[in-house]
Amino acid sequence: MTEFLDFNDIEVKPKYKDKYKGVPGEKHRIAIIWPEKEDPTRGKGPFVMKNTHFADKYFICKDGICCEKVGPSKSRMACLIVKYKTKKDGTLLKREGEAIPFDFEVLEWVFTDKKFGQLKALHGEWDLKNHDITVTCGGNEQYQDLDFTPCKESIWQLKPEFKAAIYKDSETMRTYLPKALGQDLSIDEIKELLGLGIAQTSEVISSETDLNDILETV
Ligand SMILES: [Zn+2]
Repeated sequence: MTEFLDFNDIEVKPKYKDKYKGVPGEKHRIAIIWPEKEDPTRGKGPFVMKNTHFADKYFICKDGICCEKVGPSKSRMACLIVKYKTKKDGTLLKREGEAIPFDFEVLEWVFTDKKFGQLKALHGEWDLKNHDITVTCGGNEQYQDLDFTPCKESIWQLKPEFKAAIYKDSETMRTYLPKALGQDLSIDEIKELLGLGIAQTSEVISSETDLNDILETV
């Protein structure tokens, strides 16, 4: 095993993949991934939910100074999805001669209560655990005004080897899913973010004089 690497030996990959977004003019085929196994500490559902605020970035509400300063928090949910690689009209790209005959990504998908309501209504009729969904996006990408249509089947669940390939990605990503909703900041960090008096920071060596002082006392 080589330990010392040169520039070209290292490929830096982003730690977290991009989150799912609908794209106007494209039809996507996705599926919500329920956890592979029921975990007594985490439950069996596919969603995580937190109350969050936005100020430069999303952060978790602490029911206090944050709400006083930026107004009521907003519920956000996240789940993991399979996004099949398709043409822009939503038809699947086939991979000839491969064990998994389709290409896919596992992505985080974050949304608010309105979209959750749409999915819940659809789930009431179609059991989204066992059906893929096609997604179209109206208007502007920024607003993520999405329309969902259930599919007849769930391709990734048709064969055990397909499922195994998807779970291999999804079940490691699931651990990090709550982080997709926002940063879990301390009260001091929230105050700092909102510009409300700077939290006490540890002393730093800021000048040569400081450094000399330290060296003299050693
Ligand atoms: Zn709050």
